[in-house]
Amino acid sequence: MTNFSNFFGENSPLKTVLPGFRPREGQGEMAIDICDAINRKENLIIEAGTGIGKTFAYLAPALMSGKKIIISTGTKTLQDQLYKRDLPLIAKVLGRPVSTSLLKGRSNYLCLHRLDNATSNDKTISQDLKIIHEWKFQTDTGDLSEISGISETSNVWPMVTCTNDNCPSPSYDQCYFFKARKLAQKTDLSVINHHLLFADIAMKEEGFSDFLPEAEVIIIDEAHQIPDIATQFFGKSIGTIEIERFIKELLLKAIVLNEAKTIKSIDNLSKNLKKFVISSPKKEGRYEFHEIESQLNKPISDLCLAMREVAKSLASIAGKDESLGVMSETLEKYYFRLNSIIDPFLEDGLRWIEVTSRSIRLNITPLDIGNRLCHQFDMSHQAWIFTSATIAIDNDFTHFKDRIGLKNTLESNYPSPYTTDKNALIYLPKDLPDTSNREFTKEMLKNTSKLLNLIEGGVFFLFTSNKSLYEAKRWFSKNKKIIKKRVLLSQGDSSREELLMKFREDGKGILLGTKSFWEGVDVRGAALKMVIIDKLPFKSPADPLMMARLEHIKQHGGNGFIEHQLPTAVLSLKQGVGRLLRDQNDYGLIVICDNRIQNKSYGTVFKKSLAPMKFTDDRDKINQFLESHQTNNHDSKQ
Ligand code: SF4
Repeated sequence: MTNFSNFFGENSPLKTVLPGFRPREGQGEMAIDICDAINRKENLIIEAGTGIGKTFAYLAPALMSGKKIIISTGTKTLQDQLYKRDLPLIAKVLGRPVSTSLLKGRSNYLCLHRLDNATSNDKTISQDLKIIHEWKFQTDTGDLSEISGISETSNVWPMVTCTNDNCPSPSYDQCYFFKARKLAQKTDLSVINHHLLFADIAMKEEGFSDFLPEAEVIIIDEAHQIPDIATQFFGKSIGTIEIERFIKELLLKAIVLNEAKTIKSIDNLSKNLKKFVISSPKKEGRYEFHEIESQLNKPISDLCLAMREVAKSLASIAGKDESLGVMSETLEKYYFRLNSIIDPFLEDGLRWIEVTSRSIRLNITPLDIGNRLCHQFDMSHQAWIFTSATIAIDNDFTHFKDRIGLKNTLESNYPSPYTTDKNALIYLPKDLPDTSNREFTKEMLKNTSKLLNLIEGGVFFLFTSNKSLYEAKRWFSKNKKIIKKRVLLSQGDSSREELLMKFREDGKGILLGTKSFWEGVDVRGAALKMVIIDKLPFKSPADPLMMARLEHIKQHGGNGFIEHQLPTAVLSLKQGVGRLLRDQNDYGLIVICDNRIQNKSYGTVFKKSLAPMKFTDDRDKINQFLESHQTNNHDSKQ
């Protein structure tokens, strides 16, 4: 049996492949905890602070266990990194070659059938299609992330990928997705992502009904994301864009087959979809269904009827083309989805509509997923391991466990091995208005921009809303002098990866970001020396996931703020603050501009949940802190 204390200790064999490797407090212990949980087939939650090296700490015992493993990560980027870089490296050091596979959601793979049928008059799309046609002959996996030269936002992607709603020609032997799935069923270890995991747990449509029960160990990294992801997947949703797209496909097929009756029923469906759109609210936003039920019930019922008509018509000519049967089933699926959203007696949940400039989406979001997930975690032959840098609230895992219905579980918490109390200082400016004040953003920018002169490296401004981000962007463009020679980057100007690349290159840039920069961003060294947070990241109560959860707590006589809004905001703040120290030698300043952290009683919950760091509202202390670090750094370079 592997001695994980030695494996991650002073004389670790990892030193031979990772020259910068040094033992980190907590890494060996974390591996031992996971090894024990795997052997005893128990569930385990581990909070592992930044820098523990949690990926290796779970990969090593997983590989040594000899069991069938699924590892689920938060993003596709992490999935690729784990599969292509970390996994082969640690398997080599352990001398443990195992068969591995990478499985992503269906929409990440090229659909050969849809590619064959894809055409466009648009020049860019045609060019993109040409690239994909050429790439088709070079790829073994069909994983679209391998393609370069096509924009992430290109309209070509939905034309060449398959969702489980539109698989009109199930050619399973050639289909990249089905081949990847088959491989994953055979291998010892599969790397998947949370979306795939929960889409499958919720729908049992993608084959996990064969695959997941076989796994003996399921390791979930970035586990703090799963309550929200699982809630989305246990919900139901249908939007006008997908219906419109599907109507076009249907029409094309009916015209080719010259089926006049079917064409007529499809036209009728199209008219009813338009009627529904006309009857829906014009103003963009989210609406609870009961607010607009009276104006929408009739158009939706008519739309349902029209769908059924087309489905029937397709079924009646199914013998003419093999894809007609599948198309008819898809319409039936749409019909049932729509129906369960409008009929309050069919399913329990929050019903709501989202209106955007491009589409109208009807949704039902479950109030509680714990009661549906808990059975999943009780399989006697499985060990579920949940890990993240941010799961606990003041060392307590109750919030996380309650949300996903996890009952019997072991728990461990390993703080960051970095000297956070010495290397980071949290500044709480005392002269700022309340966050509800209309002048707040302007004032916080005026106040914090004075700190830019003190900091030699780069700065993140993390905002809690797009509105504040745009205001900041406008403010900086009017106050260019403050930026001096720094590059100013703003979320939305280009892709996240491109912005981060420019930020790292500049080394003293200013980056304005909202949600997607609060987590999963890793900028080490001098390129990031200050993180400025505008407000405590309370989610809007109008957010449907939040609304559904608050409703559930209310129905059970609880306090939504204490039980959900506060803990969720604490975890988000931990993530935001966690952007600063990404390496043992990193140091810097965190500025939290929301005075509620000082003035409200719940502010202490935020403070106690962060890694140990000193707080100050004294500008002189900032100078002292920075001077001492800049001097130390200078000394160490000499
Ligand atoms: S099986 Fe479905 S996803 Fe695969 S190529 Fe055929 S239509 Fe596309």
